[in-house]
Amino acid sequence: MTESEFDIIRRYFTRHQSLRDDVIVGIGDDGAVLRVPEGEDLVVSTDTLIAGIHFPEDTAPAAIGHKALAVNLSDLAAMGATPAWITLSLSLPAADPVWLEAFASAFFALANRYRAQLVGGDTCRGPLSVTVQVHGLVPAGRALRRQGARPGDSIYVTGTPGDAALALALVQAGKRNAAGCAELFERLEFPLPRIEAGLALRDCASAVIDISDGLLADLGHVLASSGTGATLQADKLPRSAAFIRCLEMAGAAKERGYYALPLAGGDDYELCFTVAPEKSALAEERLAGLPGGCTAIGVVEAATGLRCLREDGSACPVARSGYQHFGGGPGNG
Ligand code: ADP
Ligand code: MG
Repeated sequence: MTESEFDIIRRYFTRHQSLRDDVIVGIGDDGAVLRVPEGEDLVVSTDTLIAGIHFPEDTAPAAIGHKALAVNLSDLAAMGATPAWITLSLSLPAADPVWLEAFASAFFALANRYRAQLVGGDTCRGPLSVTVQVHGLVPAGRALRRQGARPGDSIYVTGTPGDAALALALVQAGKRNAAGCAELFERLEFPLPRIEAGLALRDCASAVIDISDGLLADLGHVLASSGTGATLQADKLPRSAAFIRCLEMAGAAKERGYYALPLAGGDDYELCFTVAPEKSALAEERLAGLPGGCTAIGVVEAATGLRCLREDGSACPVARSGYQHFGGGPGNG
């Protein structure tokens, strides 16, 4: 690298040194020293994005910087945690100042939005890969979990799942600049983590997960953790106006994409959650005023397995899929 790793860290990643007073030692020592407030639990989550696997090689650096943090904050949202601290491990093929400036600006713009401070990391030369770890706080014992869905609970999603998968399908069909589809690309490249929704669901949801691998796959994790099943109403899935408008351009058979993208497409980073009947009015009221809102899409049942029906009662023919890095048969997603 033309710049040393120390120059890179100093120039691009030390913009946060005094953002929070619970950071006793930030960037610059062998480790960060962080003070967890009395009565709070620490929630920790990490995710890696690798060029060519999680995003196309030619993705804009701002989108990579934003998304690497957003997918991690989405995990905190699903736990009902408030973001506090971040670490960033970067593997870079070269020290390109234009790339680094755009990456760091988008990364810090999102971090600032939630007052989350970058407190450390690692920087090395290698194939492009970004690993972020996030640390969040939640009142002791009140983190939201995947387990806890009970028969009779309603199932909800925030936002409009399927938008990101449709954008990816358009990219893959060579229609990156398709007219009228900009909102979908925004959803794919600059997803906003549903932090506010996660906080609103504390003491309210019985189980929560964020949708990274697809609604069916991720709801499947909630049901497996909870020892329950569910029936989804596929026609109740919320679909954005941009989704309806752009579906035909993706080349996918319209009918199939209409169901398959919201049910099995990944990358939306919306929340899927369950709520007991006596709390559903409260959950709906709290989320109505927040970005993405929420929509009821089904009911948790005692019989295990995930059933998916259309309005006329017929089965919706979409296989539960979800991206699996190491393969695996149906049901492992
Ligand atoms: P060490 O040799 O102890 O691993 P490094 O030279 O890797 O230390 O890092 C020096 C300091 O810079 C450490 O405080 C580390 O946490 C921080 N750091 C390194 N890379 C990054 C990065 N990409 N973003 C934020 N902080 C970083
Ligand atoms: Mg190091």
